[in-house]
Amino acid sequence: MPDNFDLVVIGGGPAGYGAALYAGSAGLSVGLIEKDKVGGTCLHRGCIPAKEFLETATIARTVRRASEFGIEASQPQVKFEVSYQRKNKVVSQLHGGLQGLLKKRKVVTYLGTGTLQADGSVEILGNDGSTTQVVGNSVLLASGSVPRSIPGFEFDGKYILSSDDVLDLQALPESVVVIGGGAIGCEFASMMADLGVQVTMLEALANILPGCDREVALVVEQGFKKKGIDVRTGVKILGYTETANNTVVVSLDGGNQVEVSKVIVSVGRKPYTQDLLDDSSGVDLDEKGFVKVGPSLETSRNGVYAIGDLINTPQLAHVGFAEAMQAVKVILGESWLPIDYHRVPWCIYSNPEVAFAGYSEDQAKSLGYEVVTHKTRFSGNSRAMIIGETEGLVKVVCQVDSTGKAGSILGVHMAGPWVTEQLGAGYLATNWEATPDDVASFVTAHPTLSEAFGEAVLALTGRGLHG
Ligand SMILES: Cc1cc2nc3c(=O)[nH]c(=O)nc-3n(C[C@H](O)[C@H](O)[C@H](O)COP(=O)(O)OP(=O)(O)OC[C@H]3O[C@@H](n4cnc5c(N)ncnc54)[C@H](O)[C@@H]3O)c2cc1C
Repeated sequence: MPDNFDLVVIGGGPAGYGAALYAGSAGLSVGLIEKDKVGGTCLHRGCIPAKEFLETATIARTVRRASEFGIEASQPQVKFEVSYQRKNKVVSQLHGGLQGLLKKRKVVTYLGTGTLQADGSVEILGNDGSTTQVVGNSVLLASGSVPRSIPGFEFDGKYILSSDDVLDLQALPESVVVIGGGAIGCEFASMMADLGVQVTMLEALANILPGCDREVALVVEQGFKKKGIDVRTGVKILGYTETANNTVVVSLDGGNQVEVSKVIVSVGRKPYTQDLLDDSSGVDLDEKGFVKVGPSLETSRNGVYAIGDLINTPQLAHVGFAEAMQAVKVILGESWLPIDYHRVPWCIYSNPEVAFAGYSEDQAKSLGYEVVTHKTRFSGNSRAMIIGETEGLVKVVCQVDSTGKAGSILGVHMAGPWVTEQLGAGYLATNWEATPDDVASFVTAHPTLSEAFGEAVLALTGRGLHG
């Protein structure tokens, strides 16, 4: 006899465990199938370990400039193995907490690989070799994604590293090439450079962080150059050869070469569907391998939903959570609002940090909006001066209204100190389609870095205070 549930979830990453927890709190019986560890990429090979290593980098940077504040300390010695142990401790605490939470919500967790069958049931090949059949009134697919490689640079864990390999490093290499100037590439480049690794970043496009507002990306590029990262854009990578000195030589067009200890390939992630679907499951994939879904997140098969990195939406843990909650509401027959994907928050934890929501200036213009923008730089912000980090800006992009004034806020884009913690107000303003006049009457505490957003908004009302 199969085990029966209201909801069966395949994949225990943020999307899958988010759905299991949310459905559990709504009183549904839930079976959750995970072939590795609940928490998925985010907890074990992504967000959390990456930010832990970045925090080590922040501490090293801070100690290095302690004398600026009159604190005489010896120059930092990086013992990366300690950071590695600390990272494992944080991950394991969160993993334990998550397992406890799932138990509390009465979610039944199966350790094994789940495959959706032609009859709609799910077969689980247990990690212990057993086979179990489970049936759900609804089934949710959330098997996530894995790192993408590029031809000629297949991951070997020795010289050519994926993000999984980087986050499992127990010792720092002397030098690295980072292929790809996207969010994850920038986080790794920044972390390595701050910890004393010689970093070369290679980006095929004309700019790093191509999805960001160009002025924000420029702040990061300048910050990277200042910390010694060799940022090369518009480059074509031809291949690599291993040397006898345990290094590799990466060849670029124009006859250029870079010799390094390791190559980090950071060119995005692809949906993971291995063993997920029986040939006759009735679930369609698109040409890139993502599971196809409609607005309600239902797949081509009735009663089967898909969420998270497995579908072609922004590959972010919090988007997975949002999709999880939407799918559960659909399953419960409750009213739901579609996720406004172009207004979800994005945070990049490099130094300088980046945070944004909504359209960049170029995106808004290319969509036909007439826009007005204002930039407030951290160079004039008192808290930024106090902490000694004055590089960066907050840029607010507004639609011009019928009277020619700054109308609804289309996007807020930030680069600089702690902006990942400052996006909240800009995110809300963008999503409420507030105007600068709506926001300007709210008071921002002084002295804070978030005053930069308040100043930008005030300036857009036509009457600035300091900005
Ligand atoms: C280095 C790095 C840094 C990142 N930083 C951030 C960040 O700061 N903020 C952010 O929002 N996002 C970040 N991300 C992205 C984030 O990790 C992903 O968007 C998120 O983990 C996707 O969640 P998911 O549940 O869809 O998939 P995953 O987290 O990939 O989880 C899928 C789970 O399904 C399991 N599985 C797969 N197939 C089966 C099967 N057939 N049966 C059973 N189990 C199966 C897998 O073992 C896995 O545990 C980062 C990613 C990386 C790589």
